[in-house]
Amino acid sequence: MATLVLVSSITAVVATALIVLTTQLHRAASLLSSSVESVRLAEEVEVDLLLHDRENSLLMRASLAGDLERKLFQAQRHVTNQEENSLLARATSDVKEYLEEPSHPDPAGDDPTRGSLERAFRSMESVVTVNLAQARRAVAFAARWNDISNFIGGAVFVFMLAVVASVTLWFRRAVFQPIVEIAAGIERFAHGDRDSRVAEHGPAELALIAARFNEMAETLTRRREDQLAFLAAVAHDLRNPLHAISLAAAALPDDASGGEGRERRVLRQQTMRMTRMVEDLLDTASIEAGRLQLRLTKVDLRDELAEVIELYRPTTTKHELIVSMPDDPLWADVDGTRIQQVLGNLIGNAIKYSPTGGTIKVELARVDLTAHITVKDEGIGISLDDQPHVFEPFRRTRASRDAFQGIGLGLSVVRRVVEAHHGVVDVVSTPGKGSTFRVVLPAH
Ligand code: ADP
Repeated sequence: MATLVLVSSITAVVATALIVLTTQLHRAASLLSSSVESVRLAEEVEVDLLLHDRENSLLMRASLAGDLERKLFQAQRHVTNQEENSLLARATSDVKEYLEEPSHPDPAGDDPTRGSLERAFRSMESVVTVNLAQARRAVAFAARWNDISNFIGGAVFVFMLAVVASVTLWFRRAVFQPIVEIAAGIERFAHGDRDSRVAEHGPAELALIAARFNEMAETLTRRREDQLAFLAAVAHDLRNPLHAISLAAAALPDDASGGEGRERRVLRQQTMRMTRMVEDLLDTASIEAGRLQLRLTKVDLRDELAEVIELYRPTTTKHELIVSMPDDPLWADVDGTRIQQVLGNLIGNAIKYSPTGGTIKVELARVDLTAHITVKDEGIGISLDDQPHVFEPFRRTRASRDAFQGIGLGLSVVRRVVEAHHGVVDVVSTPGKGSTFRVVLPAH
């Protein structure tokens, strides 16, 4: 608003200055034109006086006298001030006086009218002189206004430049900056930073938007914390009965052939899955509350992987688990239990999302100072659109939502645990062909 008022005021000042300037220049131009006309007529009168003086023909003299009177009359129209008016009046009367003298022409030069001719001439000269002075004054007047307009133009240019620069700076600081900050805050929040809040400054409307965003972020965060606390409480209560069920399953007698019966395998598989879900829920709740604590020790990643494979191999007969590991130890400073949880989640998913069976290749390899763990299945795969989102909490792909049990927390726990170890996890997948999850961890 202030900017608009300022710009309008400047425009009004410039417009007024332009009107004044053009009026003054018009005045100077008409003064100059009147002076030029007056000088031209005075010069013509002088020429006509000479011609009249030399002319013998009475007819011609009468015509010249008529011309003289007409031109003197015309000259009256170009009079611009009192002085010129009285000089022209005197010149007119002098010319008339000369014309009324009877004895013309006088080539011999002893004519008594010579005096009146010279008077008429001098009077006309003074009219010329006064008009020349007036023309010079008009030129000086125009030059002065030209200087004034140059000064006003320059000053307005500099002033406008300063106004544009300050308005641009002000816009940058007071408008664009808060908008950029709000956009960045929203983006951070959308990417999972629940603590993202924005400064409530700038113009009132932007400060209001920032305040509303902060309130919304606060409400969402609180609601999410409540949900997670509720889920954690439920998961906590489920843990003990689940533990009892898995102990009971382990204690069941083997079948007649001495091998593990089908029922026992199903029981074992399902309790493992349920235990995983309950653990994921508890972990998510504690990770979200910022309570993920790692107990780092130097471990050979081959041992961790072998343990997980041993745990999962008996849970399936449809899948072939092919494991490849280096011959030498692959040392890393990690929380062994957590890394087993990561591997268990990835291998468990590979089994779960390959419902028709197939090969699951698990590979541990050293690449420079990192350990690469890949889990490759031949399952349902993940579409390109879903791939960036599968690591977010409670995200399940449409393909898996109805057909597979799960709550969508396993991969988010995997990512948090891997990132807490300063590692990365990613996925490459082709729907219908299978997926490859890769974990990269710092190693010795
Ligand atoms: P959950 O398995 O409980 O749904 P996860 O966090 O482990 O949760 O996985 C998130 C989603 O990612 C799954 O719902 C599934 O859609 C997809 N997903 C995970 N692993 C695989 C896999 N190996 N193949 C295909 N889809 C997978």
